[in-house]
Amino acid sequence: MKEIKLIIKKEFKDKYFRGYPLIMTEAILNPQDIKEGRTAILFDQSNRFIGRGYLGNQNKGCGWILTRGKKGLIDYKLFYNKIRNAIEKRRNFYFSKDTNAFRVFNGEGDGIGGLTIDYFDGYYLINWYSGGIYSFKDFILKVLTTLVPYKGIYQKKRFNSGGKYIEEDSFVMGRKAPKPLIIKENGINYAIYLNEGAMVGIFLDQRNVRKALRDNYCKNKSVLNTFSYTGAFSVAAALGEASKTTSVDLASRSLNKTIENFTINNIDHTKHDIVVKDIFDYFTESKRNNTKFDVIILDPPSFATSKKSKFSAESDYTNLLKQAIEITNQNGLIVASTNCSSFNMKKFKGFIEKAFNSLNRKYNIIEEYRLPCDFAVIDEFPEGNYLKVVFIRLA
Ligand code: SAH
Repeated sequence: MKEIKLIIKKEFKDKYFRGYPLIMTEAILNPQDIKEGRTAILFDQSNRFIGRGYLGNQNKGCGWILTRGKKGLIDYKLFYNKIRNAIEKRRNFYFSKDTNAFRVFNGEGDGIGGLTIDYFDGYYLINWYSGGIYSFKDFILKVLTTLVPYKGIYQKKRFNSGGKYIEEDSFVMGRKAPKPLIIKENGINYAIYLNEGAMVGIFLDQRNVRKALRDNYCKNKSVLNTFSYTGAFSVAAALGEASKTTSVDLASRSLNKTIENFTINNIDHTKHDIVVKDIFDYFTESKRNNTKFDVIILDPPSFATSKKSKFSAESDYTNLLKQAIEITNQNGLIVASTNCSSFNMKKFKGFIEKAFNSLNRKYNIIEEYRLPCDFAVIDEFPEGNYLKVVFIRLA
């Protein structure tokens, strides 16, 4: 199929010549020519070559530039080289004795936006972020299976393909994974379900934060894990000898999943609290009862709507922090985390400052985390470096 010629508007050309990889509809002079799944060649308005990419609609952008050499083609070899390089970079993870879950390929950070591949103890999970990238499925599967041995391959179609994430749909080839599949991260066991919708039970990008919590911050401390999901942070805290952990999540599934994660680490879950509740109600009750914690973990989704509350990280993080500060003990620790890509670290620290100032409280930032090295990022696409975690000591 012939590639589509797209012209970048002059006000955007510098951005693209500097290496910006995301094709944005508003930057294209001839958007009527955009067609999902096709390859594109991009020029500026003076007919200077910018690069080649594929077209695929995501919530942001309509495609990704994959190559900038004039002779570069979007072919099997391109996918092969990018995926091989990515695998090579994760060598240490493949050989690790205490971690067997990591990201093998991280979208634009590894040269192909819209595609991620995760590894879970021999099983691969491919995330397709558009119908456009999905149309290269045969190439990409062939590359992956040529390059690495595998137990099984699963996929998630994270785009509107007329259906939902159907359970059987997510298995692609090889053997099916056990349910749960138990993976290891820095010696901690976590239960993974590769065939249960979009989320598999763990967010691998928090690996270093979980390790820091376990190793350095929880001994003999009471720990509150908010938005706790499957209790991954709670388990790390318990293994770090927390005196007690309390996990709070709105979703009823979180109860059994958290019990399961405790159990597979030989922790008696009955010694820990697992609460299914809206966190904002939980804060109100804790304040009323004067319940306080030594360590509070805040890791909300970027957006959440419940029957009673509506949360957006960008507009509500300051308030979330204020509520947490009020129930943190003297000299306690707040781990403030966000995966929201619409603001940067500087702005996030502004939220922190605002929250403490408005309560007339002092604090020190003692540690910061960004994405771990398997979540490769590039300078040309700072939005891709979404994770921001700040360890805050209350004065
Ligand atoms: N911190 C978790 C991941 C959080 S995923 C981890 O590291 O594993 C987001 C979670 O927030 C979901 O489980 C969702 O059920 C929960 N959630 C969303 N809104 C909430 C609210 N108002 N109160 C409590 N939990 C909420």
